[in-house]
Amino acid sequence: MLPLNIKIRSRRMAISLAGACATLFLAGCATVPTEPPKLNIDRSIQAQAQDSRVEFVVLHYTSASNERSLELLSRRNVSSHYLITDEPVPRIYQLVDESRRAWHAGVSQWFDRSNLNAASIGIEIVNAGGSGLFWAPYSNAQIETLLLLLADIVQRHQIKDHNVVGHSDIAPQRKVDPGPLFPWKKLADAGLARWYDETLAEQHRSAFERQGLPGIGWMQQQLEKAGYEVPRHGKLDKATQNVLIAFQMRYRPRLYDGVPDAETLAILKSLQ
Ligand SMILES: [Zn+2]
Repeated sequence: MLPLNIKIRSRRMAISLAGACATLFLAGCATVPTEPPKLNIDRSIQAQAQDSRVEFVVLHYTSASNERSLELLSRRNVSSHYLITDEPVPRIYQLVDESRRAWHAGVSQWFDRSNLNAASIGIEIVNAGGSGLFWAPYSNAQIETLLLLLADIVQRHQIKDHNVVGHSDIAPQRKVDPGPLFPWKKLADAGLARWYDETLAEQHRSAFERQGLPGIGWMQQQLEKAGYEVPRHGKLDKATQNVLIAFQMRYRPRLYDGVPDAETLAILKSLQ
């Protein structure tokens, strides 16, 4: 209702000003300055019941050089909130304001949420890794820079550690970044990402080796419980293997073959 009132009031004002101007024309009336109606919002009281719209952080690598990454993420139809370069002293570019949506996740799912662009912050890291055939290490300086940035984001938006994810976690059928050389354990040690209870995993592993492995149906159920979108038909098809590869790249990067072995399943059972 408010804008309508403003419109009517200003139209009336315009008519009466025009009339006044016509009357005074011979007396030398020039243009009468009109001020736009002022919008008054009182922000002195802030509600207690609120939280951030940002619930996830999604980590990526760019598969491109610094210059090319900047060009792709700022001049095309993809973007990210932040870009960390691979210079000796890495630079952090902010390309999209955190209050706005960047286009980095694409078709994606994590727990019961889909299309994560709407509720996430995307961080791209310059890295030459390709689509599964070639991996490039991240520099220590890049990871140190990322840890600082991530700690700030996680703290400001109160993001839960299981919601700091890789692109491959939320789109395992399409994406492999940030790849098996990304040091998830370092993030977990800094309290910034989920990890598993390593002692418990060792116990589960020996139990599985002694007593045999649980079935594919159990594994699919556990992967779903961990956040992954995975088939639930009890068969080890290509889609299930892709999810398992994403899981292994993150938690058991030494071997990511999509085979449900005792170690992988023990880790899955020990996620915190
Ligand atoms: Zn990505």
